[in-house]
Amino acid sequence: TLLRPSDSVLVIGLGRFGTAVAQTLVDSGHEVLAIDADDANVQALSATLPHVVQADATQIEPLKQLAANEFAHAVVSIGTDLEASVLTVMNLTQLGIKDIWVKATTPQHGRIAERIGAHHVIYPEADMGARVAHLVTGKMLDFIEFEDGFGIAKTRAPAETHNKALSESNVRQRHGVTVVGIKRRHEDFIYAKADTVVKPGDLLIVSGPTDKVERFSARV
Ligand code: ADP
Repeated sequence: TLLRPSDSVLVIGLGRFGTAVAQTLVDSGHEVLAIDADDANVQALSATLPHVVQADATQIEPLKQLAANEFAHAVVSIGTDLEASVLTVMNLTQLGIKDIWVKATTPQHGRIAERIGAHHVIYPEADMGARVAHLVTGKMLDFIEFEDGFGIAKTRAPAETHNKALSESNVRQRHGVTVVGIKRRHEDFIYAKADTVVKPGDLLIVSGPTDKVERFSARV
């Protein structure tokens, strides 16, 4: 039984990645226990993270003492020390944590993590590298690709869409992408509707197959 809220998170390994995870969760009001083996690191983070403690997560005893089992989620962000990452994940599964996320640095690391009970494996560097590759060669201002070759991008509205309603420029038929939202300077995002008129300078949020989104974004 969970003694802490269902949005409580244990974050283990406070390098750049783990610190960003912990800080973002704290800023959005979640209950976070942050753990790192390095005392100086813990000291430095204690000013911004309300619950940060020094402990070696490869040992089960300190985790038990910290009541790590009470947390609904755990993020293991020990990147470089594979052995420490693996032992930590094993401890968390042994403690019965139901939702374990692991940062992996290599596919091998990821495969091991999955095999020993991680529920989610993330590859921040590989993923970010792929994302930058899309951004650097094209005209997209932002881009997220989902697993199945389907993506969503922010791009400048191509000239052919200017001063026309979306139903008129017929982007979906012509380019195979859907305009989901529009961002106009100094205005909030709006959801795109058939009668929404696109103005020069508008930013469009478009979704669709990655290659089509890329081609559409290059039309500017
Ligand atoms: P990043 O690339 O995100 O900076 P690192 O892998 O360099 O990530 O950082 C890992 C962090 O995990 C370091 O702060 C390190 O002190 C911590 N760490 C390493 N081993 C353990 C362990 N056994 N228990 C807890 N924290 C650990």
